[in-house]
Amino acid sequence: MNREIYNSLGVSDAVITLGETVLQTLQDRFRLIDETAEYNQAKVLKAMQDNRVDASCLTGTNGYGHDDKGRDTLERVYADVFHTEAALVRPHLTCGTHALAVALSANLLPGDELLSPVGKPYDTLEEVIGIRESACSLKEYGVSYRQVDLLSDGSFDYAGIKQAINKKTKLVTIQRSKGYQMRPSFSVAQIGELIAFIKACKPGLTVMVDNCYGEFTEALEPSDVGADMLVGSLIKNPGGGLAPTGGYIAGTKKCIDRCHYRLSAPGVGQDVGASLSVLGSLYQGFFLSPQVVSGAVKGAVFAAKVYEKLGFHVLPKADESRHDIIQSIELGSPAAMEAFCLGIQAAAPVDSYVAPVPDPIPGYADPVIMAAGAFVQGSSIELSADGPVRPPYAVYFQGGLTWHHAKLGILMSVQKLLERGLITV
Ligand SMILES: *Cc1c(COP(=O)(O)O)cnc(C)c1O
Repeated sequence: MNREIYNSLGVSDAVITLGETVLQTLQDRFRLIDETAEYNQAKVLKAMQDNRVDASCLTGTNGYGHDDKGRDTLERVYADVFHTEAALVRPHLTCGTHALAVALSANLLPGDELLSPVGKPYDTLEEVIGIRESACSLKEYGVSYRQVDLLSDGSFDYAGIKQAINKKTKLVTIQRSKGYQMRPSFSVAQIGELIAFIKACKPGLTVMVDNCYGEFTEALEPSDVGADMLVGSLIKNPGGGLAPTGGYIAGTKKCIDRCHYRLSAPGVGQDVGASLSVLGSLYQGFFLSPQVVSGAVKGAVFAAKVYEKLGFHVLPKADESRHDIIQSIELGSPAAMEAFCLGIQAAAPVDSYVAPVPDPIPGYADPVIMAAGAFVQGSSIELSADGPVRPPYAVYFQGGLTWHHAKLGILMSVQKLLERGLITV
């Protein structure tokens, strides 16, 4: 039955068989993913009940947005789920980069130093920080930056970190997910160890974790192991595919108050910010997120196993533990990147008939190819693949609002590589 419908979508029998063979080996793994989803589902539900979410929370305000009960309650729900004192969850945070820029610029003053102890941060942060020249960067405002690279085996350079922390160091940024790099993503436990070490070197430092793509992949979040701020995008994991836009910052009241002032205006802070008509989707998306994330993680594990079997270098490996929804696959050539992305695009519910091509994107140094046929533009909790066109020509695959859609996407990507003579199955 499935074979016929998959054939009609353009997947050949050879590729379907490959998928079935791989899937048979993943049943135990999928059971563990379901256990994490079950725990996180209950955690979100409890926070919604404890905060007495009701129908009046789902409609928004306009104008100044004073007394926006739904918005304020949603922020309480996020704070409870992440076990933080406060949270800022707003459609006015336009993307993950914006949320990170707000968190950083709100909590760093001229003369302060920012430290990344985990190597180069995400591409778009280079301009926020001023690693690449940009108007309004932190550097322009007199905030300096220091970076300690990971050791060659991917572990933290504790000696280097200790040496890098100085009297100017004020804020430490830790990126949980690998971003566009071929390094492992960090587990919450690893992040916890790093934070403990850093805070022992200099008590009082603020630690921010870029939590993009990590939410709900584990039972714990970085805020459970000492992070003062967690930052992420609502068109990734916590929006559950329903949030049409937005970002969040969860953390200590001291940090979050400053983020509110930076986002709106000093003195005004959190009391303004009309939520218009998005609140229903933000609540419902957060509610669905643990389940959606589990489907995406299954898709990532499946992709790893399939591409390993085809002889490609994948990160993480199929059998490794998962700390985000990203799967990177080193395809080795621009042609293979294009074929892979064409397959993902061809599996989409929206824009399935278009062919992705590499293009320059603001904030990124290299041309980027992106496949996404999403209900929400650019949403990468939906089935998508992207990557900067530079060696080792790795694509970063993520998302899928349902596990079955993620599976189809991977099968289609294999199909396109096969049709272009880039692999044999
Ligand atoms: C996506 C992402 C960002 C930036 O988010 P945008 O919403 O694309 O601006 C930052 N850090 C990491 C690790 C990401 O994955």
